[in-house]
Formats: sequence, C-alpha cells, structure tokens
Amino acid sequence: MEAEGMPYHWPADTDFAYVELDVLDRDCSVCGRRMYVCDHRHRRLHTLEGPLHLTCKLNHCPDPHCRGRATTKSPELECTIAPPQWAIGWDVLVWIGHRRFSRHWAISQIQAELVDTYGIKLSERSISRYAEHYQTMLAARQQDSERLRREYEGTDTIILTIDGLQPEKGHEALYVVRELTRKRVWFAEALISATEDEVRRLIAMAKEQAQALGKSVKLWISDKQDAFVKGIAAEFPGVPHRYCGNHFVRDLAKPVLEADSHAKVQMRRKVRGLRGIEQAILKQERESARDHRVMIEPEAALPALPVPVQEGTAALSSGAQVVLDYSAAVRGILNDDQGGPLQPPGLRMAEALGEVRESIQRNLNAKKGDSRNGN
Ligand SMILES: [Zn+2]
Repeated sequence: MEAEGMPYHWPADTDFAYVELDVLDRDCSVCGRRMYVCDHRHRRLHTLEGPLHLTCKLNHCPDPHCRGRATTKSPELECTIAPPQWAIGWDVLVWIGHRRFSRHWAISQIQAELVDTYGIKLSERSISRYAEHYQTMLAARQQDSERLRREYEGTDTIILTIDGLQPEKGHEALYVVRELTRKRVWFAEALISATEDEVRRLIAMAKEQAQALGKSVKLWISDKQDAFVKGIAAEFPGVPHRYCGNHFVRDLAKPVLEADSHAKVQMRRKVRGLRGIEQAILKQERESARDHRVMIEPEAALPALPVPVQEGTAALSSGAQVVLDYSAAVRGILNDDQGGPLQPPGLRMAEALGEVRESIQRNLNAKKGDSRNGN
C-alpha cells in the first residue's frame, strides 16, 4: 500500500475534511491522573466522502515520575476510520473488496472507477494489496489463536466495536468486529440480511474470543443500531455500550445532506420553465430564419427542421444565443449533484444561481446604458 512505499502525493489544492480525534479515556492507566495532550499526529487518507485529514491527539501522563509517562496514548477510534498505515478509509477498502470479490472486477477496472467516481488515485499495486487485506480480514476467524494470545499479553481490558459497512446500496454489508486497544480486526463477515439473530451470532463470537483470551470487555462502541444494542445487551450484560462519535461523516453528514437536498428541491421548483423559454426562443429564431431563407434559398422552404441548439449557433441571433447560453448554464447548475457533506450540492447550487442572477442583472444594466447611447 502507499504508506509502505512512497508517501502518497496529495496535490496542494486538495480539499480535505479536517477531523480531530481524542483518546476516549484520558486517565493515566498507571496513576489515574488526567493525561494531557503532548503531541499531534497527522495523517491523510481517502474516503468515499472525500479526502480526510485526521489529527490524532496524543496523550501522556503529566507526572514525570509515573511509569505511565513513557507510553503515549493515541485515540482508540482511529482504527475505526482506517488501520495504521493505510492511505484509505474502511469504506474504500470495503468498496474495493466488494468490487473485486463479489463482482469480480479486474484491478484496472477498479482503479479507473475509483478515479472517475471518487477522484481516488491508487496504483494497481496498492489496490491489489488492499484487496488482499480485505480477504485476510474475511478469513480472520481462522487466525492463529496463539499469536493473538501473545499479542494480548499485558492487556487487561479490551474495547470492542462492531460496524456494518455497506459497499453498495442494497448489497450485503460487511460486519467488522474490531478490538481497539490493540487496533486489531477480530473478524469480519458479510451478512446478506443482518437480522438480530445474525448480528447476535457475531457478538457471541466476539464474546468467545474475549473469553478464550481471558480478557474482560470494558466497553462496546457502535453506531447503536437496534440489532447491535440488543445483541450486545444480551451477550454482554452490564458492559457499557457507547455511541461512536466516529461515525461523524456518515451520521453528522446525514442531516446536513438531507437539509441540503430539501433546499435543492425547493430551488429546482422555483427555477423552472427553462424548456419553455428555450422552445420559444428556438421557434422565434426558426421562423425568422425561414423567412430569411425563403428569400435567398428556395429549398429552405421545405418543412422546417428543428434547429439543433448545439449546431448552427451562427444562425441564431446574438440575443437568442445569450438566452440559450444562460438557459444551458442554469440547467447545468440544477443538474449538478456533485459534492458531499463538506460541499453540499444545494449550497453550491444556491451560490451558482446567485451568480447567474447577478450576471443577468449586470447585462441588463449594461444594456440600459447602451440604449441610452442610442446603440
Ligand atoms: Zn500516570
């Protein structure tokens, strides 16, 4: 993947979303004092929502004599956005995995689609490696329990998360159970229908794993969808279950995008009648063109063909052309659905329509000035 070789090159004008992550529990695990932020670690990665600049606030114990001082704690939730070293978020990984293994796309096809649809440029080699990661993750249930045990030596309590990642609307979602203190994916499984029973089965698997390791789960974190809440309450009675603040993009963006989409509908409703205006202009032009042609070229008296907008622009009077140009511009604005929560399309639409209005006003003012000069 990119991070293992050359650092990923981000163009200078990349429009990042900035997100800061803090540690969940800021009490020193040795002395219990409140830790403070001693450093910031920055990383940049691709998500399907756009480029993300992640700032991880690193904490350590304020007491120079405390053993806990030496270990810096980094935000636990970081690995729910992307594991260390990755240049892509989970959403992109799942998107790649789904295209590769469920739909059998070629790596080159995945590469092209990532650029075209999401503006994400990855080398074929990187994509292959991410696809391998995806496969490994799905096979993680068969992982070496001895190795896992070694990795969890010295860890008393663990924090588990469960997340359903949908690669595509209407498709099976990939359910991932992660352990945050060691930043590990415990297992992942694609569920076609995530019924309460199916989800509970996954949570029970996590319970078995924790028991096999002899660790107690001090916290569960999820986006608290119903099946998670019920399954965790049933399998882990008494264990706190926290809402994951890390579903920020998805969950915070939702109301923003909904409001934005509503605004867009309102604007589209208000700015209408483009076709009528265009047809009127074209008809008018056609008629004057026909009158004109009849005089000079007899064959033009044949039944008139509709004047195509794109061609024959020279045949249009400059006034008609201006109206058609504005009309095309406004149609382009109304149909522009690009943008995400950080650049809501509706907001852009409002700005663009405002510009058109100003431009028309400028032209009208200029014209007034002209006519006063008898032009
Ligand atoms: Zn301490």
